[in-house]
Amino acid sequence: MPPLDFDWHVHTERSYCSEPPLSIDDLRREAERKGLIGFAITDHTAHLHFPEDRAWRYEFIEDYAVFEEVREQGNPRIEEYLERLRSLRGNGILAGIEVEAAVSGELIVDDDLAREFDVVIGAVHWLPGYKDAPQEEFEELFLRNTLALLDHDIDILAHPTRIFRRAERPIPTHLYEPIVRRAAERGISIELNSHSQKDPDADFARLCIEHGIKIAMSSDTHNIRELGDFSHQRSILRKIGIADSDLDKHVFTLDDLLSNPRHRRPSK
Ligand SMILES: [Zn+2]
Ligand SMILES: [Zn+2]
Repeated sequence: MPPLDFDWHVHTERSYCSEPPLSIDDLRREAERKGLIGFAITDHTAHLHFPEDRAWRYEFIEDYAVFEEVREQGNPRIEEYLERLRSLRGNGILAGIEVEAAVSGELIVDDDLAREFDVVIGAVHWLPGYKDAPQEEFEELFLRNTLALLDHDIDILAHPTRIFRRAERPIPTHLYEPIVRRAAERGISIELNSHSQKDPDADFARLCIEHGIKIAMSSDTHNIRELGDFSHQRSILRKIGIADSDLDKHVFTLDDLLSNPRHRRPSK
């Protein structure tokens, strides 16, 4: 059986966008039912720091000082989340976070705290001018923000071009190359994400394979039914000519996680 048995991107009820029931216990039962060997819980750091209305306003992306103001008071919630996840490590659950970068380049999480997690997923969800900036200007900002994420010690780049789908903008296919090249240089995996607007497309995935990037299987579960369902990922991989028997050469695994440079550093 090909190694599509680990889900790298899963939310719980701690993310405001999740659909109940989505407790860790619900997820564990579902993972067992579907024969997964494990999954990474990757709730949004902004949701662990901000109340719901402020999380969705994304002021912390435009102005990093907005995050700095709540960092200390938000950390106890993240620390408690980390402790809970750590206690489940023996059950195939990894402690993760999904994190954005401010336009000034800093991650929306305390750097020392981020190092304590098993998995750090970087993502672009919103940028200034989301709907109304001229496309070219928006593309520039997007590329800068994505490259900033890749300069940090993240393990996986999430849904690399989904922001364009959500904002109903054209997908900037000419930016695939610089993003993939930087991820390859940094040893960072890129995911195939099957939640809502599935992203990225087959051309992006093909380029990842050409650059030797291992692809993470990510349901981005917000609804219990999504967990471990990789039928979309499988069809993209087939489309670009990856036979089921070759999946193990291209799919991101737990061993690959540990080869990311950030896991080779002393944690403290
Ligand atoms: Zn996301
Ligand atoms: Zn997510």
